[in-house]
Amino acid sequence: MSTGERPALRLVPAPAVEPAAPVLGAVELLPGRVRAALVDLAGELLWRAEAAYPRGAADRGEIDAALAEVVRFPVQPMGVGVAAAGLVDAAAGVIIEVNEVPALHGYPIAAVLTGLAGAPVHVEHRARLQVLGDRWFGPGRGRSTFASVSTGEVLGVGILYDGEVLAPPGGRSGAHMTVAASGQPCTCGARGCWKTVATTPWLRAEAERRGLGARTVRELAETGDPLLEDYAGNIALGLVNIQQLFAPGLFVLHGEAAEGGERFRAAIERRLREDSSWATGAEPPRVLVNTGAADDIALLGGAGLVLSHN
Ligand SMILES: [Zn+2]
Repeated sequence: MSTGERPALRLVPAPAVEPAAPVLGAVELLPGRVRAALVDLAGELLWRAEAAYPRGAADRGEIDAALAEVVRFPVQPMGVGVAAAGLVDAAAGVIIEVNEVPALHGYPIAAVLTGLAGAPVHVEHRARLQVLGDRWFGPGRGRSTFASVSTGEVLGVGILYDGEVLAPPGGRSGAHMTVAASGQPCTCGARGCWKTVATTPWLRAEAERRGLGARTVRELAETGDPLLEDYAGNIALGLVNIQQLFAPGLFVLHGEAAEGGERFRAAIERRLREDSSWATGAEPPRVLVNTGAADDIALLGGAGLVLSHN
């Protein structure tokens, strides 16, 4: 926010919540934005609220105020799951750091939300958590091992392995795994990170370099340009590594991938199978594209985190 003022709260009224039914609370914390929702046991979003705060906030009061604005659940949830950007200490319920938001460094989000919601609060990294949205409410229902992948401007993989979300302290969601020995410089300071070749900025730059009019996954899918296959191959690079290490079998893609249609999905799956076909003991990897609202998956992951703790 350039003005330094907090934008007006946006409340989106939803169908009345049935007070007798148990509901799950979810909060998504992003740089400059916080969202909250109530979700029923079938994964329907019953109520939601959203507020913004200054991205460069150095004062915790700004964060406290934004959370107090959105966490006004009309009924008491059985728990609240927080999908947080950046690094989190899930056991302590504390944000370790979020790029661009100094006030979130060391922010005790679980304690703050417990006070606001009056319910147990659990915290996890957003990209990892979306796998629980798929586990409880999406294509991963009934599975104990699979992966959930965010694509587009952000990139990351959440892995459910034998019923548990893989979330070692200090681990991250894969965007910075090295896929090229002397690749492009990354925002993290390293070179050749997966993110440098498998996110929207790479696609735009490469389309420009090749002199293409089509610059987005959707446009490239419409024109049938081979760049889309190359991009699919780059996304598959990281997934191949995940498959070789954990053999999740199923990869559920969220975000931009949905715009590429069947050809894009099939190209990622084909590359994934080619590069792991020797692993005969593993379930052959499949790629599914979730076409639900991309904005909701982190909130559903938060709701899933509550269920996973019950
Ligand atoms: Zn990096």
